Amino acid sequence: MEERTVVILGVTGSIGRQTLDVIEHEKGFRLVGISFHRNVDFAKKVVEKFGVTNVVVTSEVSVDLPGIRIWRGVEGLRGMLEELKPDITVIAISGFDALEAVLIAIENSKRVCLANKESLVCGGFLVKEKLAKHNTELIPVDSEHNALFQLMEEDVERVILTASGGALRDWDLAELPKAKPEDVLRHPVWNMGNRITVDSATMVNKAFEVLEAMELFGLPFEKIEVKIHREGLVHGMLVLPDGNVKVLLSKADMRIPISYALSYPNRMRLKDAVVELSGRSLVLSFEDPDPKRYPAFFLVGHIKHSYRDRIAYNAADEVAVEAFLKGKISFGCIHAIMEKTLERMTPFPEPQSLEEVKVLHELSKREAERVEEWLSSTSC
Ligand code: NDP
Ligand code: MG
Repeated sequence: MEERTVVILGVTGSIGRQTLDVIEHEKGFRLVGISFHRNVDFAKKVVEKFGVTNVVVTSEVSVDLPGIRIWRGVEGLRGMLEELKPDITVIAISGFDALEAVLIAIENSKRVCLANKESLVCGGFLVKEKLAKHNTELIPVDSEHNALFQLMEEDVERVILTASGGALRDWDLAELPKAKPEDVLRHPVWNMGNRITVDSATMVNKAFEVLEAMELFGLPFEKIEVKIHREGLVHGMLVLPDGNVKVLLSKADMRIPISYALSYPNRMRLKDAVVELSGRSLVLSFEDPDPKRYPAFFLVGHIKHSYRDRIAYNAADEVAVEAFLKGKISFGCIHAIMEKTLERMTPFPEPQSLEEVKVLHELSKREAERVEEWLSSTSC
């Protein structure tokens, strides 16, 4: 197989590192560029180990890397990708700021492997416009969507996204509002970045994933079901009109969807990836999420068709999760901040461009911060 050039944006994060792990053990991929935000030490290690010569720094941190071409900020991302024109760009940046990176990557890469979900939630219409214009392939890395991508057929009755239910899935409901960051960050199935781990406990992550599935597969909201699946083995299911159900089952190991997104339509031979099924009584359970336990998740029904509302939902979650992790608000306040922020953003019109999406994101954050300040003195 011909060698393919790869750029990883957000290389220092959980997905970034696992992508490195996959390409390190696989011939046929050459890392030519990376981006990172603040973690200079890890970025330096990547440069040394993989012989990368182009590095984008998206924050203001100072970097000393002799002989390496350093690019800065979003314009640096654009400059580097325009120059490298990689075969594959992996988007492993967290949060809203990935949206612009995704759009630039689509313009300049043959394939974009997308882990970030906030970009599709807030700017799916922009991503789809760009994809159509540039004829770029977009392969989902998020495990549920990667599973659906592998299973997808033309005519589907329903798709089912599985959820772990997060670290507090068995907590007494009365105790939930008092959960501390250390309780929430103990995820039962996956080992991920902090924000997405909190988003798993509120199931806001799954709300994002419903919207992500609508964008990626053009599915109506009504065809997407969410089930809590404790065993972490089934990642996606397709219910077909003739009664067949296609199920994708694998270990909860992000290297598997990452490898598939990189090598599609081929498959890699991954070390220790195969799930041991023989001699094991296999229990697969699927439960409906409880609205009392996951109120922030159930807001998805109200925001599904409005990018303004999705932007407000994401921005409010970003603000609320940060405040919770800093000990400023209780776990129970996350939902209250999101609901109130959504309400306060309703006078604004739907965004039509990247600029308008960015403005709405900033306005929603300011609004969420005001709500947070006001609610932090109450018990929500
Ligand atoms: P992490 O928090 O572990 O990593 C985030 C990465 O993005 C780091 O490289 C960080 O740089 C960089 N970064 C942070 N802020 C900015 C910014 N403003 N601009 C540019 N780069 C930035 O996140 P994860 O790897 O867990 O998640 C990445 C994305 O993938 C998220 O959207 C998440 O929802 C999604 N995802 C993650 C999964 C997982 O298993 N982790 C599964 C499915 C989806 P630095 O560290 O140098 O500051
Ligand atoms: Mg997921």
